[in-house]
Amino acid sequence: MLISPPEPIAAQPIDSSPEIARQIVDLMLSIMADGLDHPELWAMIPGFVATQPMLLPILEGEAIIAHDDAPGRAARLLLGLCLAQVGDVDAVIDALAPIAADHSQSPLVQGVLFHLNGLADPDNPKYTLAGKICEIPFREMDVLERSTHLCCASWLPTSAGDLSATDWPDVWNSDTAQAIRASIHDGSYRYCNKGACPKIQSNALLPTDTLAARSAGWSDIVTGAMTALPVGPEVVNLAYDRTCNLSCPSCRTDRFAADDATRLRFSEMQERAILPLLATARTVFITGSGDPFTSKNFRQLMHQLTPAAYPDLRFRIMTNGMLFTPAQWESFPSLHGRVATLKISIDAATGPTHERLRRGARWPVMLDNMAFAGDLMAQGLIDGFELVFTVQTDNYCEMGDAVDLAHRVGANGINFLRLTNWGTFTAAQYRDRAVFLPFHPDHHDFQARMHDPRLQDPIVLLGDLESFLPDGATCQRKYVC
Ligand code: SF4
Repeated sequence: MLISPPEPIAAQPIDSSPEIARQIVDLMLSIMADGLDHPELWAMIPGFVATQPMLLPILEGEAIIAHDDAPGRAARLLLGLCLAQVGDVDAVIDALAPIAADHSQSPLVQGVLFHLNGLADPDNPKYTLAGKICEIPFREMDVLERSTHLCCASWLPTSAGDLSATDWPDVWNSDTAQAIRASIHDGSYRYCNKGACPKIQSNALLPTDTLAARSAGWSDIVTGAMTALPVGPEVVNLAYDRTCNLSCPSCRTDRFAADDATRLRFSEMQERAILPLLATARTVFITGSGDPFTSKNFRQLMHQLTPAAYPDLRFRIMTNGMLFTPAQWESFPSLHGRVATLKISIDAATGPTHERLRRGARWPVMLDNMAFAGDLMAQGLIDGFELVFTVQTDNYCEMGDAVDLAHRVGANGINFLRLTNWGTFTAAQYRDRAVFLPFHPDHHDFQARMHDPRLQDPIVLLGDLESFLPDGATCQRKYVC
């Protein structure tokens, strides 16, 4: 039987009517309403701009009447993404900089800026996430007071559930937890704050093949694109108790101590969820939320985590250091020989700056306590000792001196990171302190300080500040969870 060749299908003319352009705008804005990043959508914009001449006029109209709210912001971001196709990308980035500064915690805003910066710097490998994988949501759980995250809440703000009201396996493999892991597998990283994440900003994500080759378990996760995990987290970050002996301006306006009812609630969660969770974990991090030696709950927990009951567990301790004295150390035998890293959050290299940014602290005490930590390190009684330095207007001039200080006190690491707005500051106050933002009046001086050769010392970790190093320079240490 003879089969006649099929009739050629005529190419369909593209409908470029205002109605279609309006539908495209409405559809994109509705997708952006979830506040997450949508790189697959940004990739379609060149095609829309090329075929829909009414798209830009419609978006310009939207942006003019937009309110300073989430829909208005989305319209301005979308207009910026479209303008970047027909004009100067750097000018668009500059125009959106105030929105980026005021919404430093938004995955959508930071994702759009990440995309635009990638257009402006196409050869920079950090802007290509395809073929790379972040292992953190597959191995870490960060427990806050009413939410639980699969990474630092500042970098991955979406909660996977509330551990104070839910059993940990139901949080660890909740629908949201699985959606977050799916976004790592599909390369969108849509839940991640791409502007703040130190792994993304320092191009430290692993090639997918490298992680798959690490073990059979990782191979299953990577090749099977697994989102529900049969085992619990390896790393548990406890950040639910904000109790602290200081009231640092970057964190809070007043000193805070949990009241009796709150402590009771934390105790119940510790017994019901945290202790069982730690039975299979390898590392517990106490704490990024306050001070472990001030919190009664964390003190009780550290006593309970004995080597006999938790033989494989190791500690990462983060403290402001004011209470880290020899007597305090002696009173916690459960920590002895089991501290992988002691982090002292210092934010300064001089007494006046330290006492201003660590309200309630005393510099001479800090010097003694840091020297004590250095002695523990030198004697092999702790495995790591690092200083932590949150960069802001008040202290950026001391970054280089802080590296010298770290060496002097015997630390084997110093971690610099950008100031985060945890809701402590108004947008204007944050802009005033965020010296790393391009329109800050001291930004040029900050950039010059980033060329200090001491910031390329092997003990330095720059994370989300690495892009300010001189061209061609890289940080030798990379963020690991
Ligand atoms: S480290 Fe970065 S990439 Fe990994 S989960 Fe956290 S925010 Fe996402």
